Amino acid sequence: MRKVYLDNAATTPVDKRVLAAARPYFSQRFGNASEPHLWGQEARRAIETAREKVADFLGAKPKEIIFTSCATESINLAHKGLLEAKLREFQNPKSQIPKKLHIITSSVEHKAVLETCKHLEKLGWAKVTYLPVDKYGMVRVSDVKQAIRPETILVSVMYVNNEVGTIEPVAEIGKVIKGINRSRRASHSPPLYFHTDATQAIQYLDCEVDKLGVDLLSLTGHKFCAPKGIGALYVRSGVPIVRQQDGGEQERGLRAGTENVPGIVALGEAIGQVQRSTFQVQNRVKELRDRLIDGVLKISGTKLTGHPTKRAPHIASFVIEGVEGEAMLLLLSDKGVAASSGSACTSGVLGPSHVLTAMGISAEVSHGSLRFSLGKDTAGEDIDYVLKVLPGIVVQLRKMAPAA
Ligand code: PLP
Repeated sequence: MRKVYLDNAATTPVDKRVLAAARPYFSQRFGNASEPHLWGQEARRAIETAREKVADFLGAKPKEIIFTSCATESINLAHKGLLEAKLREFQNPKSQIPKKLHIITSSVEHKAVLETCKHLEKLGWAKVTYLPVDKYGMVRVSDVKQAIRPETILVSVMYVNNEVGTIEPVAEIGKVIKGINRSRRASHSPPLYFHTDATQAIQYLDCEVDKLGVDLLSLTGHKFCAPKGIGALYVRSGVPIVRQQDGGEQERGLRAGTENVPGIVALGEAIGQVQRSTFQVQNRVKELRDRLIDGVLKISGTKLTGHPTKRAPHIASFVIEGVEGEAMLLLLSDKGVAASSGSACTSGVLGPSHVLTAMGISAEVSHGSLRFSLGKDTAGEDIDYVLKVLPGIVVQLRKMAPAA
């Protein structure tokens, strides 16, 4: 049986060249980068080379890159670290910081952002506005503008939605924030900071931080062929962050804990490869995605979710009438195909996806959600195979579904 992996938005295989670059740092060059001896210095040099690669990709300075364990950690550090820094400033009686800090985010963020925001609300550190989205899952720039108040300290909007692939208007929001900061500077008010969760964007979109106008950017290696357990946070020079993990002075004192040297080397190699390859890979993946979309939409009762054109090259997402997403995944898996469904099974209860709900899709319809996410090695034959097996699975499941 053919095996077709179309769940690259969940995780990607480690690239062979990435593995080869990281391998010596497990048992040959295994030093602790904080030590002054030869072994330590070798590890230190490898970390700094990887930092330069990540910085180069983002159009940033190496000292603006903090290595973490994943995007979730980067997001937590960005949000909590910034809020804590601002609250500390607030304790200074001369400070201009407003008493109640305010965050703006969108209702379609990954849980890593939503749960962090909820936590900050619970702590009483901030009030949070969760912006609605349009039917394609896109945030309206006008809504961001309207939601900004004098006490707003952080706007956090993802670059690419992981469930439906919609590309959010991050650069446009960045421009709005720039304008706000010009007037804030004139009135000596504290600046507004902009964070983006770029987890699903790194492999396919331009992530230069100045073009996006972001102050903070989170990423995770395993979405672009580096291993799991390594991520990074970009922190623009001058953005105040308090570390959220106490201990040693690693990562400029912002992230304590002995560095994951093989992971960092792998991240640097993987991001370098993305930088060298993008255009061709992007177009090939996009073409295959469109072929998949056209094919799936030929099945009756199927609809594309997310924006029809402003979508990341690797994500094709649908709702399929009269079938249960989870059941579809199991039958696809029986045929050797890995895909994903938006409905999250939490504590045994199948809940509708918060993203599809925010897009105005009913719980009933969203239970039939299906996401295919392509990778740089997806082949045309993979798409042909999926289009061959999927119609039969849909028919089979519709036959089994209880009559309405
Ligand atoms: N943000 C987005 C958009 C994601 O897709 C994911 C992973 O699925 C994350 C954050 C979290 O990544 P990690 O689990 O590597 O921290």
